[in-house]
Amino acid sequence: MASDRTVGLLGGGQLGRMLLQAANLLEIKVNILDAAGSSAKQISAHDGHIAGSFKDRDAIRALARTSDVLTVEIEHVDTYILEEVARDLGVDVQPAWSTLRTIQDKFLQKGHLLERGVATAESLALAEPSRAELERVSAELGLPLMLKSRREAYDGRGNFPVRTADDFDAALQALSGRSAQGGLQPGDVLYAEKWANFRMELAVMVVKTKDQVLSYPTVETIHEDSICKLTYAPARRVSSATNERAQALARQAVACFAGKGVFGVEMFLLPDDTLLINEIAPRPHNSGHYTIEACPVSQYEAHLRAILDLPLLAEDLELREPSIMLNILGGAGPDSHIRIAREALRQRRTKVHLYGKGEARKGRKMGHITICASTMAEAEAILAPTLALVDGTAT
Ligand code: ATP
Ligand code: MG
Ligand code: MG
Repeated sequence: MASDRTVGLLGGGQLGRMLLQAANLLEIKVNILDAAGSSAKQISAHDGHIAGSFKDRDAIRALARTSDVLTVEIEHVDTYILEEVARDLGVDVQPAWSTLRTIQDKFLQKGHLLERGVATAESLALAEPSRAELERVSAELGLPLMLKSRREAYDGRGNFPVRTADDFDAALQALSGRSAQGGLQPGDVLYAEKWANFRMELAVMVVKTKDQVLSYPTVETIHEDSICKLTYAPARRVSSATNERAQALARQAVACFAGKGVFGVEMFLLPDDTLLINEIAPRPHNSGHYTIEACPVSQYEAHLRAILDLPLLAEDLELREPSIMLNILGGAGPDSHIRIAREALRQRRTKVHLYGKGEARKGRKMGHITICASTMAEAEAILAPTLALVDGTAT
């Protein structure tokens, strides 16, 4: 085995499943805390897993007692219990609980970066979710702006674009369910972000080891309905200077946080080529799935190597070939995602990943497809029939 330390994982969804695929190759033991039969547990047969919710404090204590290192596949976890088990049980929490605590509140995350001179969109917290507060922040930031939930946001749930004052009520209503959540103080619910008129969205996976901060290449991400749909590695129509600059900014951002592991850094590229950080995920990320086929060491293996202090070289993160990743989302019918997977299987150089999630709700991430080819144009041509099926434009 590559390490004699046992990893405890909070959450057993698709990111956990792909982490287990990497762990299995290295005989690294991972105890998963999630419901029985979860996506990650399906591919890991041993009796060290814990059945329960990664939100349950006692379950997290039980996981900590049987693990040497605790890590997460989702940042929306109870960091107070992680602080407790790190202190009382001496378990190594990676990335650090303090990092998870800062990052899981998007407004604190942005403040943390701004204080350290890292460029992010200008943000203001609302003292309470009210029209008066929205008026105040729009006077300062201008309209349009993006109203965001500070916590528990993903796949755009938690964002509301406010274009004119006519949108105020709808925005508050859409995000107000969140004020009732988890006993938050009124001032901790929402914040407003200056609108970023971006030319493109970019992302970089960064690996923080015990003594290095390394990055994968810069990818282009395409979101539809605020859900990541496609990634192109490397980003198309971006100069190598911008590609390098984005990697440097992402490394600078991740260096501001304590602990080890992979981090997904989402960025906006503005029309004048300025880069701004959108947000950071302290874990493997959708925009890094392509690394499984396209790089010598995937983001999942890199995460394990980082948290277990195993060797990792900058060269391990280099792109071998241009690559495209397409998410397979639940669609209009219960088997739409299967039809997409089958179409992709007919194409050369195509890898299909299905996550074993069972029921396909609309917009649910059911799997993904990766295509690597000697040029991006070739990868795009291979993807075209599958993309046409996804977009409903197949002839
Ligand atoms: P994820 O699933 O990546 O965690 P999320 O729910 O945390 O998503 P964000 O990343 O904050 O949401 O935003 C989702 C998308 O909304 C962005 O990728 C971008 O397309 C758009 N967006 C977010 N913030 C802004 C902004 N300030 N200006 C313009 N567009 C924005
Ligand atoms: Mg997010
Ligand atoms: Mg995002």
